[in-house]
Amino acid sequence: PLPVLAVVGRPNVGKSTLVNRFLGRREAVVEDRPGVTRDRVTYEAEWAGRRFKVVDTGGWEQDVLGIDASVAAQAEFAIEAADGVVFVVDATVGATDTDEAVVRLLRKSGKPVVLCANKVDGPSGEADAAALWSLGLGEPHPVSALHGRGTGDLLDEVLKVL
Ligand code: GDP
Ligand code: MG
Repeated sequence: PLPVLAVVGRPNVGKSTLVNRFLGRREAVVEDRPGVTRDRVTYEAEWAGRRFKVVDTGGWEQDVLGIDASVAAQAEFAIEAADGVVFVVDATVGATDTDEAVVRLLRKSGKPVVLCANKVDGPSGEADAAALWSLGLGEPHPVSALHGRGTGDLLDEVLKVL
């Protein structure tokens, strides 16, 4: 079976946009409004000649649990089924309490994690990315999922953990 990569993080950090990049085509649903990604959360991707599955989380962000519990529940479920995880943080916002809660889940899982500092659309965002060292998950990889900046380097890191 193909290795499984879970993409987790708060609503609106750019998970689905990143998954689109991994697929190389517009397939995951991306909209400005949080909570619109619904169907078909698992995709097949390929990088450097290696195939793997990508699980985009976040389809139930507006359910009755509320955002925090919902993010945690989905992340926990996806992490458990994954061989490796990309944890996406919005570098322009910085680490929030919800991000910290996901970090605790990731630690508990023991799964290998690649930290994606997303929305680094240009060089001026690099400092925002570096601030995410504070999460204690190792090197934050600066990415602009929207423009494709840094996604190749991120995928190189992903292959190391799958
Ligand atoms: P998700 O809820 O985590 O799946 O986030 P989405 O992928 O749906 O993206 C939420 C919003 O952030 C959309 O308006 C995206 O266009 C925007 N977005 C995603 N990645 C980037 C990025 O790298 N830079 C900027 N500026 N916006 C982004
Ligand atoms: Mg989404």
